[in-house]
Amino acid sequence: MNEKRFFLFCVLMAIGLASFFAFGQGLDLGKYKKALIIGAHPDDPEFCCGGTALMLQRNGCEVVNVYLTGGEAGIRGVSAEKAREIRIKEAEAACAVMGVRYVMLSQVDGATEITPERYAELREVIEREKPDVVFTHWPIDSHRDHRICSVLTYDAWRQLGHSFELYYHEAMTGLQTQNWHPDTFVDITEVVEQKHNACRAHVSQDPEHCLKDWHEPMELFHGGEFHCKYAESFVKQQWNYNSNNK
Ligand SMILES: [Zn+2]
Repeated sequence: MNEKRFFLFCVLMAIGLASFFAFGQGLDLGKYKKALIIGAHPDDPEFCCGGTALMLQRNGCEVVNVYLTGGEAGIRGVSAEKAREIRIKEAEAACAVMGVRYVMLSQVDGATEITPERYAELREVIEREKPDVVFTHWPIDSHRDHRICSVLTYDAWRQLGHSFELYYHEAMTGLQTQNWHPDTFVDITEVVEQKHNACRAHVSQDPEHCLKDWHEPMELFHGGEFHCKYAESFVKQQWNYNSNNK
């Protein structure tokens, strides 16, 4: 190989490697038996991860949505009690569209807490459900409830000895999720309509606006990154298996 050819070879190798790392990996959909999708509010699991939940189910994985709060602060002019009642009904309808079960926890929308009791509450749910993969909010988010949900889940992952894989999902990136650089993708093109129908069950949350102005553009953008039409994207929590530090 002459000098010119060797130079060209190096350039092509560099482009190939850069493309590989830039495009990220596809999630191994056939790897998991049970997934938990933990969201701060009713509608977060559906909007952030609904397509992936459906694709996992198609590959034989059981999916459970976990809602940290009942969305008590999510309907303007409606009491917390009434809003919780409405939003639980909407979550039930969304879960029926997706064919998943749900667990509703007792935190309050807009007033979520990090306390020893709250750490234990979420840890116990995960311990009971025994997932092999969990999806939750990315911790850098303008919404306090999303940040707290992420921290509680991350703590449970550590306390339970990293017994499941942990992935972060995104919510209204730019407005809520910040500093987002995904490393894992799922092609959701086949199920995108079903995902959007599940999102539409959250009638009180103006789902058409959330889809049209936020989540559908995100899905199309990530589809471009992952060479398909619609994709959801994630960041995988890495773990140094040589460390015993808990
Ligand atoms: Zn939310």
